[in-house]
Amino acid sequence: MKQQANLKSPIKDVNERLNSVRNCFNPLYPLFSPGSRIVDHFSSRISFHSPSSSFDEDLYQHLQSLNLAFRSFQVNHNSVAVIADRGVKKSHVAIAAAHIWADNSVIKQLCVYSLNVTSIKAELMAIRTSLIPAMEIDNIHDIMVITDSITAARKNLKSKVDPLQNMFISLAAIVKTFLSKDGSNKIRFWYYPSRAEWPRHKLVDDQVKASSCAPTFPSKESHLFSKKKECNRTLCEWQMHFASSLKKGHYFLNFEDEKGIVIKPTYAKGGSWLPIIGFTNFLCACFTRMTTGHAPIGEYRQRFFPQLPTSCPCGEAEVQTQEHIIIECDRHSPSM
Ligand SMILES: [Zn+2]
Repeated sequence: MKQQANLKSPIKDVNERLNSVRNCFNPLYPLFSPGSRIVDHFSSRISFHSPSSSFDEDLYQHLQSLNLAFRSFQVNHNSVAVIADRGVKKSHVAIAAAHIWADNSVIKQLCVYSLNVTSIKAELMAIRTSLIPAMEIDNIHDIMVITDSITAARKNLKSKVDPLQNMFISLAAIVKTFLSKDGSNKIRFWYYPSRAEWPRHKLVDDQVKASSCAPTFPSKESHLFSKKKECNRTLCEWQMHFASSLKKGHYFLNFEDEKGIVIKPTYAKGGSWLPIIGFTNFLCACFTRMTTGHAPIGEYRQRFFPQLPTSCPCGEAEVQTQEHIIIECDRHSPSM
């Protein structure tokens, strides 16, 4: 990738200009019309199992049920369990891997690669990679898909207008054929969190981590990946401008995160500062005045009203600065 960044050639220019985005949107495909969708016909035979809450007890309960279900799938000759996982490397190569389990052993291992895709697309890839080969096995009526992305599993089958529709089309057609073949055919999706470190899931996870694939060139990008790249570029520009600009004020306080890195502005999850303050107008006003230094303190008076006193009433500081009030002054303790 480093070499690619330094390379200047007509081939690279053509690749960037003509092949940068690949089409992945097909809103008028018949399978997405109401009445023709998978969920319209087979909703009772596709199920999703996830913990009722994120509390540890509910997660533990869910993992117990998952273990029991997995064991029953291993003794039944008409069922298979599939464990899927994915990862995206720094080189933007996405890896999706899956292990198909039957009779308490791995009967098939699968691994696919893609370049320049977003993490949600990598998750969808992992579901596809695990589900399609399982449906192709003879005399299988019940498939259990174990994934840490139940959202991607739902997305794959909900058949609604989405920029990733083209990805669902082929999978939806195969799922429809599998479920239509026999009235007892079922697909069950089970959520499994990677942090729980189940040895069988760890096998797939290790395979993803150990996989390496050099990016090919020229290569196309998905529509979502291009959007994400453009968004990251704009955000980076905004953060650089914010860091160097004097418009935020000479006394703007830079806050640091737990790793000691200065918090940068972002649009995600309500921004960098406001979600921490909450919804109290009073607190928001105090925080803004403290952060910008526009508050009736000695430092402010020194600048705009030099005839007024600048020292702190505690008697410990000649000039009552933001730093003194926040870190040193006894008049303002964190518990107040
Ligand atoms: Zn003081």
